Amino acid sequence: SIAEVEDTEEQLVTRAPIVTVMGHVDHGKTSLLDYIREENVIAGESGGITQHIGAYGVELKGGQKIAFLDTPGHEAFTAMRARGAQVTDLAIIVIAADDDVMPQTKEAISHAQAAGVPIVFAINKVDRDAANPEKIKESLANMNLLVEDWGGKIQSHDISAKTGLGVAELLEKVLLEAELLDLKANPDKQATGTVVEAFLDKGRGYVSTILVQAGTLKVGDYVLAGRTHGKVKAMQDERGHDVQAAGPSTPVSILGLDGAPQAGDKFHVFEDEREAKSIASRRTQLQREQSVRTQKT
Ligand code: GDP
Repeated sequence: SIAEVEDTEEQLVTRAPIVTVMGHVDHGKTSLLDYIREENVIAGESGGITQHIGAYGVELKGGQKIAFLDTPGHEAFTAMRARGAQVTDLAIIVIAADDDVMPQTKEAISHAQAAGVPIVFAINKVDRDAANPEKIKESLANMNLLVEDWGGKIQSHDISAKTGLGVAELLEKVLLEAELLDLKANPDKQATGTVVEAFLDKGRGYVSTILVQAGTLKVGDYVLAGRTHGKVKAMQDERGHDVQAAGPSTPVSILGLDGAPQAGDKFHVFEDEREAKSIASRRTQLQREQSVRTQKT
């Protein structure tokens, strides 16, 4: 069943932070995500991350790991939150230093605050002549958001997603902030987590990117995700490499579900295939009844 058993202190192990990048359009979210992805290819790996699967994990030079939700814009964040999924531990909010604190910046800030997720500001595009990071920090101060340079507690770092200036230091600050959160999960149990995105691939069938949040997902596990279910036939990381097991804070794409679950759907592993199937069909039935009802009203 889906009932969760409380973990004991001894079972809990430190896990990597899960980070979302948000901010106003054109302020550099995609550029930052791309830069981090390209810079942090694990030593000895060639080719780097080839597939866009909606999330990726990086291992920094010091061996620390961070999982990024690679769905820039807060649409994904709000869609997941609307479905009750609290996935993000930390938000990087990107602000272009040659612009200002814009409406979508403010929205991103309120989303993170409403979710109780700490913010690290990335003051971007400092390579530009028109960049004025201090003006941005002043605007933030006027909104009662005091960054460290201004005597406050909120982490912020000046960066250029184009040249890479300051990005390593930004990630250090993200890790510092994550340490304060004392993030832990039990890897030694059946996996639970959240769907990030899913699509139908012509050759491979339904491909679902999921984020394992607790436990360890293994090839061969029987999974229920929203209204879909199936045995995990194969799992791949962001490099398209096959993996056999995925622990807490690991994003993987899985093959084997009978449909495309929705972003924000929870997933659970079942010992009993029949139970998973019956819950999936009950959910499908409920969904049908609900849509009939909305059509009538
Ligand atoms: P998004 O809409 O927030 O994802 O923004 P993008 O990453 O697509 O960036 C918008 C534009 O700004 C693109 O033309 C980028 O090349 C440019 N850009 C992003 N970051 C930087 C930066 O640090 N410096 C400079 N000069 N340009 C940047």
